[in-house]
Amino acid sequence: MALELPPLPYDAKALEPYMSANTLGFHHGKHHAAYVTNYNNLVKDTPFADRPLEAVIREIAGDSSKQALFNNGAQVWNHTFFWNCMKPNGGGRPGGDLARRIDSDLGGFEKFAEAFKNAAVTQFGSGWAWLVLDGGKLAITKTANADNPLPRNQKPLLTCDVWEHAYYLDYQNRRPDFVQAFLDHLVNWDFVEKNLG
Ligand code: MN
Repeated sequence: MALELPPLPYDAKALEPYMSANTLGFHHGKHHAAYVTNYNNLVKDTPFADRPLEAVIREIAGDSSKQALFNNGAQVWNHTFFWNCMKPNGGGRPGGDLARRIDSDLGGFEKFAEAFKNAAVTQFGSGWAWLVLDGGKLAITKTANADNPLPRNQKPLLTCDVWEHAYYLDYQNRRPDFVQAFLDHLVNWDFVEKNLG
């Protein structure tokens, strides 16, 4: 069963001025769509064709003979997750259980924000910054290119795409400004809290 490009969970203009409709149009309509098409073409007629995407990602991570399938599949998963990590009028501080976990595991919201921003800004080249559950505790990580926390047995809670295609039209080379705007105005904390499970 072929994967389909999921629609954005909001209107393409909904995240302006922090993420433009132009950026979302290319990022979702071209980049994400291409990963879906490439994955479907690569997985066709293989034993993985009918397996759930998450299972394929976990199973083939690190297998150099399946690098292209992994890259496209992980990028499909990462982008679908990333769209849901944002919402109009998002950002700021979470509440409830998530706030308590950030206090106890990460030393408070300011330390979380600093560590997340640092991971996003110091990811050399393309990749992703993450808030994950690792062994029952919150942790900040970063991954290169298409890689993600699933093969590491970490549960993804929040991600920020720091490939240049995620921010270049709106922020040019100013990745730190993009990550700050993501934290201040875009994060969908309800989604993050739901991912705690
Ligand atoms: Mn992207």
